[in-house]
Amino acid sequence: MMLSCKETARLLSQGADRKLAFSERVALRVHLAICKGCRNVDAQFRFLRSAVQRLSADAESEYGK
Ligand SMILES: [Zn+2]
Repeated sequence: MMLSCKETARLLSQGADRKLAFSERVALRVHLAICKGCRNVDAQFRFLRSAVQRLSADAESEYGK
């Protein structure tokens, strides 16, 4: 299965909210291997995700979650 860039972007954003299926992760990996544009998008998502994780770690201590 070959993803379009649009589908890849959708999976990347969904990957932030839910665990992707194995087949989805494989398809993503294949697309990222051949598409520089989507690798940049992936890098941005990773950056955002780690920033959000840092923020929510702070919020956790603040709200006693
Ligand atoms: Zn792409």
